[in-house]
Amino acid sequence: MTASATGSARFLIVGPQGSGKGTQGVLVAEAFGVPQVATGDIFRANVAGGTELGKRVQAIIEAGDLVPDELTSELVRDRLEQADAAGGFLLDGYPRNRGQVDDLDAFLTGRGEALDAVIELVVPREESIGRLKQRATDQGRTDDTEEVIANRLAIYERETAPILDVYRDRGAVVRIDGVGTLDEVTERIFSALAARGLAPNGVSA
Ligand code: AMP
Repeated sequence: MTASATGSARFLIVGPQGSGKGTQGVLVAEAFGVPQVATGDIFRANVAGGTELGKRVQAIIEAGDLVPDELTSELVRDRLEQADAAGGFLLDGYPRNRGQVDDLDAFLTGRGEALDAVIELVVPREESIGRLKQRATDQGRTDDTEEVIANRLAIYERETAPILDVYRDRGAVVRIDGVGTLDEVTERIFSALAARGLAPNGVSA
């Protein structure tokens, strides 16, 4: 399972909104030399750019609801078919429910690929809410209002948290305590991956 120097590593990072998974995901992806694919970022870029896709998803995102699986899974498949993801990827924000897990399974099986690890960032609800409110002040995201935050966290708990059980049953989940400084959490992630034989560029930690 050791990731090769060419950057073969297929990861998911899963955690509630405000768990820091975006920041940590970028660091892991960079270290392993694979693209970080964040569906939320792709949707937001489309909204900002006024594309057809952006117009279709804008109201859904602003309400904090989930974009339909069919649309989201197609977007992810298109992205993972690009050359830079041939050796691996880190998916952030996808899959988010059972239907998307099935879609991703079908895609990976069809390519003879499998996930190397599912990184679960564990952050208590109060802590997530506090961080999201801070982000609302810092970044002014339209879906970081109090009401929308509550909806997004409820959807996470109802639809996304259960997918971790599916991956846990497969022995794929690496559970990380997400409370601490950015560096502390990063360090925990890299040592937990290394303990599974997953180290960037074949260097063992
Ligand atoms: P995020 O930045 O991951 O919190 O995503 C922002 C918003 O994009 C979400 O609240 C959803 O409206 C939409 N979104 C992102 N990823 C997905 C997904 N996998 N399935 C459905 N909707 C998504």
